[in-house]
Amino acid sequence: MPESKETVGIDLGVKHLAITFDGEFYEHPKFPRESERKLHRKQRVVSRKKKGAARRRKAIRELARLHEHIANPRRDYAHKVSRKLVNSYGLIAFENLNVQGMVKNHHLAKSIVDAAWNQLVRYTTYKAEEAGRGVVLVDPKNTSQPCSNCGEIVSKKLSERMHHCEHCGYVQDRDINAAQNILKRALAG
Ligand SMILES: [Zn+2]
Repeated sequence: MPESKETVGIDLGVKHLAITFDGEFYEHPKFPRESERKLHRKQRVVSRKKKGAARRRKAIRELARLHEHIANPRRDYAHKVSRKLVNSYGLIAFENLNVQGMVKNHHLAKSIVDAAWNQLVRYTTYKAEEAGRGVVLVDPKNTSQPCSNCGEIVSKKLSERMHHCEHCGYVQDRDINAAQNILKRALAG
């Protein structure tokens, strides 16, 4: 793969899976709703049935199949997005998910969101290694509050979707502003 001087900061989100510093949005993969409902139902059956009972064993087998049904499209999608990122950029900056203090508004089931973020970062990291490209994981603390244009702290609640800096007048989508801060941190570090 030819060298690339292109850099990108990426905010991982709940509303969207990933948002780039220049305003590209990647949706969360859509799961068949019916599969999720079935999954919860089977999980209840498995936890209720007596150990060793034939019906429980059957429910466990069905549960495994359902997990695959949901996991496969998510995996394919994470491969697609990570491939696109590695092909397009020489340096890719994410928030470090292993650092405590990530406060995100979880509308979707937390485990589903966490799994999707982790998968995307993992796949991007190994593809970047193979391609000789860089992934930088930055401190996730307060990536959304500073103004990416002037550095001033612009406090905003989770419900506020726009970043509006009264200091320099910079107006931006809050997630794009965060992605810009993530890139700045990666380049400064
Ligand atoms: Zn500003």
